[in-house]
Amino acid sequence: MHVAYIGLGSNLDGPERRIEQALTALDDFPLTHLVKASPCYASAPVGPQDQPDFVNAVACISTCLSPLALLDQLQALEQAHRRRRLRHWGPRTLDLDLLTFDDLCLDLPRLKVPHPHMRERAFVLVPLADIAPDLIVAGTPLPHLLARVTDGRLRRLSPQR
Ligand code: ADP
Ligand code: MG
Repeated sequence: MHVAYIGLGSNLDGPERRIEQALTALDDFPLTHLVKASPCYASAPVGPQDQPDFVNAVACISTCLSPLALLDQLQALEQAHRRRRLRHWGPRTLDLDLLTFDDLCLDLPRLKVPHPHMRERAFVLVPLADIAPDLIVAGTPLPHLLARVTDGRLRRLSPQR
């Protein structure tokens, strides 16, 4: 059994509802259980600013899937939400990132773990700290990573669960 953290993001077509649906869908992946989910946060978009704010959350799952099999499931779920890559870092109905997978470090063409951008993204680190304050990411304790980011544009949304 492995423990993985998943970053969820959406800024189109009812983002909070989509995040909630995606959390349920994670629990329905084969050989996988949803262990914990953070509250949702609203964050200003990275990249083009002429798009709606994002809603972000982080989930902890336990799984017997391999990292690549888990990525397949995550990408199939993105497709099910008809995510269209219209432009780089543009609006998306659902973005699912594999943040960490046990203590594994992977550098494959399709899959890099820990997720290469997670260390600089407050909208990942803050919800991650809600559910895993003691997590160590490739040797660095999460509080150290958090101390390096500013979260001024991050807003915690009222809990729906
Ligand atoms: P980002 O999530 O960084 O804003 P995208 O979601 O558009 O960017 O990136 C998707 C691509 O990143 C996919 O082709 C996928 O194979 C690759 N990728 C590499 N590592 C990961 C990871 N840890 N989680 C999700 N996708 C990853
Ligand atoms: Mg992604």
